[in-house]
Amino acid sequence: MAPAGRIFKEVLESSSTVSDYGIATANAENKTSPPTKFTVTSGGKPGISSTTGVHELLECPVCMISMYPPIHQCPNGHTLCSNCKARVHNCCPTCRYELGNIRCLALEKVAESLELPCKYQSLGCHDIFPYYSKLKHEQHCRFRPYNCPYAGSECSVTGDIPILVAHLKDDHKVDTHDGCTFNHRYVKSNPQEVENATWMLTVFNCFGRQFCLHFEAFQLGMAPVYMAFLRFMGDEDEAKKFSYSLEVGGTGRKLMWQGVPRSIRDSHRKVRDSQDGLIIQRNLALFFSGGNREELKLRVTGRIWKEQ
Ligand SMILES: [Zn+2]
Ligand SMILES: [Zn+2]
Ligand SMILES: [Zn+2]
Ligand SMILES: [Zn+2]
Repeated sequence: MAPAGRIFKEVLESSSTVSDYGIATANAENKTSPPTKFTVTSGGKPGISSTTGVHELLECPVCMISMYPPIHQCPNGHTLCSNCKARVHNCCPTCRYELGNIRCLALEKVAESLELPCKYQSLGCHDIFPYYSKLKHEQHCRFRPYNCPYAGSECSVTGDIPILVAHLKDDHKVDTHDGCTFNHRYVKSNPQEVENATWMLTVFNCFGRQFCLHFEAFQLGMAPVYMAFLRFMGDEDEAKKFSYSLEVGGTGRKLMWQGVPRSIRDSHRKVRDSQDGLIIQRNLALFFSGGNREELKLRVTGRIWKEQ
């Protein structure tokens, strides 16, 4: 599959302060993104020739991340962000002068007058935002890259859906199936020893979209259980247009589940913790498996359909 987008590696920085703008993490990607066009709003004078210069002024000279109020400055006028201010022991990193507690209101006002495009412009978002609402939008922008849906490893790959489908096949070696019905066997010897296990993800291609079938073992309270659930490779508003059913059984008994696939925007862990899927108690699973309870042999069948 030809990559249609870009792969982003997550760059997360822990930050010590939570600002009013809902920005707990800052992203160093800002640095490397292509030169962004932006406009100066009504407050801006037509005479300002280099708005890029203004943008650079708003970059913290210490951590190089965009500054948000409160923006600080030393008595000599060197600016820095509130995260950095907390770290520099009251000493200006530029001139070593004592920092004190001086706000740079002028720069805060300049920031207020700026409008910038969403950083996912190259991925299709064409919205323009006031400086102070841009980051908030970007956290929820529907064009933002998805995280890799593979569970059981801390994979940091992000990208659009075609990128992730290729990545799942190439790097995680997942099975992919075409069609909207499935019949899957999950086998495990010594199931009694398993506290937490994740089986290989399966990706289904149907209706021109992709769905991930998860199967895993974990402790639900005191009870060891197995859980199967489906996630949709896309946003939640589209996930809601589909339904799925799962069935598991043996020796004349059957458990059934009907649900709505969850978007991969919801982490695998979140879906699991909300118990939004087919949950099978281990005792029942071993009963379904037949034999002498030494081996888990579950056959999970299912179907995906589109709601009208
Ligand atoms: Zn800084
Ligand atoms: Zn200074
Ligand atoms: Zn956007
Ligand atoms: Zn991955």
